[in-house]
Amino acid sequence: MSEESGIGVDRRDFMIAAIASAAIAAEAGAANAQGTPPSFASTAPAMPQGTVYTGDVIRGKKVISALDVNDLESGRKHLLYFQGVQMVTGQHWYVSVIVAKGAQPGKRIALVSGVHGDEISPVHTIQAVMGQLDPAQMSGTVLAVLDVSRPALEGMARRWPNSGRGIDLIDINREWPGNENGAGAPARHAGLLFNRLLKPNADYALDFHTAATGMDATAFHLARMDLPEVRAMAELFPIDHIFDHPAYPGLLANALIAAGIPAFTPEIGAPRILDHTLIPLFVEGTMNVLKHHGVVAGPMGRTGKDTGLFVGNDTHVVLASQGGFVELLVGLNDKVDAGQKVALQRNAFGEVVAEYTCMVAGEVAACRTDATAEPGTPLVFILFNSARPEGIATYPE
Ligand SMILES: [Zn+2]
Repeated sequence: MSEESGIGVDRRDFMIAAIASAAIAAEAGAANAQGTPPSFASTAPAMPQGTVYTGDVIRGKKVISALDVNDLESGRKHLLYFQGVQMVTGQHWYVSVIVAKGAQPGKRIALVSGVHGDEISPVHTIQAVMGQLDPAQMSGTVLAVLDVSRPALEGMARRWPNSGRGIDLIDINREWPGNENGAGAPARHAGLLFNRLLKPNADYALDFHTAATGMDATAFHLARMDLPEVRAMAELFPIDHIFDHPAYPGLLANALIAAGIPAFTPEIGAPRILDHTLIPLFVEGTMNVLKHHGVVAGPMGRTGKDTGLFVGNDTHVVLASQGGFVELLVGLNDKVDAGQKVALQRNAFGEVVAEYTCMVAGEVAACRTDATAEPGTPLVFILFNSARPEGIATYPE
């Protein structure tokens, strides 16, 4: 059946929907492997009561299938594996978890990386923050979840390679809050992490990302600045830009906000690398957030006030209209004017096949780094402020 025809796509969607219904019906008839009572299977799962140890130990780390940080010894760090969704071979995707449990009670902050598997600076940022923490001196808890989308990270890929209907590449940052009984492993993995690890143990959360492969970005956040508790944290970072926008449904930050946990999405430059220029800015900002909430003591570091932080509520995305080789005429953080030429494109003969001008005045927040582009590929993102009503926007996560 042709996937190009409307009929083919409609039929495929119908089949997926039918499979989903069948899966939910099947789950409703029997307790699932995680022990959820049948009566909860087709609706919200029962919230776990307490930390559940599976009895497994991997490379010296205990495996848990549910976490309640109240159960952990105070004044020390705990290194654990969280048991995510099962694989075809019967093993599970285990997710690395560090809990720094303060000697004194206080706020609980969750730090998340690896939702996209090719975004590595976030992992290093959280490792650096956790390395600076002394639980004996802390009031509260920091929960680090480092490698959420395990199979994507194993392949240095943005998306989860799901084998259910042949290889689908699933963007797990469109799946939150997940579904423990969903029609796909990534949705189930997200549901397990959301229900049994993140939501029960966080008062606030930061989900760290980078630009997508083929792009680089300034030091920026995607953050809902209309939410005072989010704004108070986001402005504590000595960075360049904040894109004040909810972006897509299904983002982890949006699911956390919907669950009453103020959250936002820091974005640390380019994917696939450790950006040693930007990482320290996000470590400093995260430590500021921990000080803001009283988890750690000490003077506040540099904030957005020190870096001329620019907040915009919209992005103008310059898309390639041709295939060809890309030459950028602007760089990250450049101020641009409406009508300014920002990129050109040549064919294999060296002839100029397209010239691109931006349609707004603003600041360059992300640029293409791959030197080729197909039609429809984003070349430049320009952050600006618009009076337009908010809709679904594109952003270079
Ligand atoms: Zn990402």
